Amino acid sequence: MNKKRREFIQKTAIIATSTAFTPNIILSATKAKKEKLGVALVGLGYYSSQLLAPALKLTKNCELTGIVTGSPEKIPIWQEKYNIKDKNVYNYQNLEEIGNNPDIDVIYVVLPPSMHAEYSIRAANTGKHVWCEKPMAMSVDECEAMIKACKDNKVKLAIGYRCQHDPNIQAYMKVANKLPFGNTKMISSAAGYFDGRTDHWKQNKKLGGGAMGDMGVYALQGARLATGEEPISVLAKSSTTRPNIYHEVEETMMFQLEFPSGALAACHTSFGIRMNYLQVNYEKGWVKMEPHWAYSGNNGSMSDGTIINYPLENQQAKQMDEDADSILNNKPMIVPGEEGLRDIRVVEAVYRSASRNCIVRI
Ligand code: NAD
Repeated sequence: MNKKRREFIQKTAIIATSTAFTPNIILSATKAKKEKLGVALVGLGYYSSQLLAPALKLTKNCELTGIVTGSPEKIPIWQEKYNIKDKNVYNYQNLEEIGNNPDIDVIYVVLPPSMHAEYSIRAANTGKHVWCEKPMAMSVDECEAMIKACKDNKVKLAIGYRCQHDPNIQAYMKVANKLPFGNTKMISSAAGYFDGRTDHWKQNKKLGGGAMGDMGVYALQGARLATGEEPISVLAKSSTTRPNIYHEVEETMMFQLEFPSGALAACHTSFGIRMNYLQVNYEKGWVKMEPHWAYSGNNGSMSDGTIINYPLENQQAKQMDEDADSILNNKPMIVPGEEGLRDIRVVEAVYRSASRNCIVRI
C-alpha cells in the first residue's frame, strides 16, 4: 500500500469514528446554516396524517423531509404526497441512522404515549432535536430521562402543547401573570370528547390510554396556566359508563386541585362526554374560554368586556414554526420538556388519588 493511500484510509477512519461518536457537534454546524429545518415524523397515524403533515406544508421555518413508520404500505402514499426521498424513509428499527442524515434536523415523536420516552431518547441520541407529542410520557421518571437525554446530547426538546402557541390561550396566561381582577379564586376546566372506538391504544393501559393523559392534560393545563401556579394537592375520582370498552383505563376522570394561593380548580375529562370550556373566577372578575383546546377558533371573554378572539391561521403550523425558530435562533422552547414533566407529576398524583380514594399531596 503506498503512503498516500495509507494516509487516506487513516483520515477517513478518523472522520468515521468522530461522526459515529459526536454527531451533534458536526450536525450543529450544518444546523446553524439552515433557514428551514427538516422534520421527520415518527408514527403516521391520525395526528401526523390529518394535522401535522398538512400543517408542515404551511410552515416557514421547517418542512417535512422524513418519515419513520412501521407500516410499509403507508410509505408510497406519503412519499408521493409529500415528495419524500427514498433515503429519508426509516422504520422503528433503523431510526438511529437518521443521525447521519443532514436533511433531518428534528425528530417528532407522534406515537402512543408508552412509546414517547423510548423514541424521544433514541431520537436525542442521534443528535437531532426532539419534539414529542403530549402526554409527555407515562411517568415522572420517564420525563426526567427524556430531559436528561436531550441535555446530554445538547439538543432541544419541545412537547406538542399546541395550545400554548395559540394567542387566545396566551391571553388568559397573561391575566394569570398580571392579575387585573385580583387573585384567582376558583377555576372550572373541562376537556373531553366522545370516542366511539372500541379497540384503540386509548383504551389500552400498557400503551398509555385513559382519558386523563390524553384529554385530562388540557383540563389540567387550563387550570395551571390560568393560575400560573403548580397544584399542591389533588382529589380525584374515575369512572366508566362503558365497562365493556373502558375496563383497563378510565373513561372519565374528575379531579380537584388546590393551589398554593388557596385557589381551587374543578377539572373534568372524558372519552364519553364532549366538553371544552374553562372559567376562571378572580376576586373582582372572570375569564371564560369556550372552546379552550380546539384546533382552531379558541375564544372567550372577560368580565371587563374584553373579547378574546385572535385570528389564527393554523395552530400546528404556528407551534412548529415557533419551535423551529427556537432551534434556529437558539432561544428557549415555548413548551420545554420541563413543562410536560410538570403535568405528568400531577397526572401521577391524580391516578394515585383515584386509586386510593384520598387526597394526595404533590
Ligand atoms: P393513532 O393511533 O392514530 O396513531 C398512532 C401511530 O403509532 C400509528 O401510526 C401506529 O401505527 C403507530 N404505532 C406504533 N406502534 C404502535 C402500537 N403498539 N400501538 C398502536 N399504534 C402504534 O394515534 P394519534 O391520535 O395519531 O396519537 C399519536 C400521539 O399524538 C399521541 O401521543 C396523542 O396523544 C397525540 N395527539 C396529540 C394531539 C394534539 O392535539 N396535540 C391530537 C391527537 C393526538
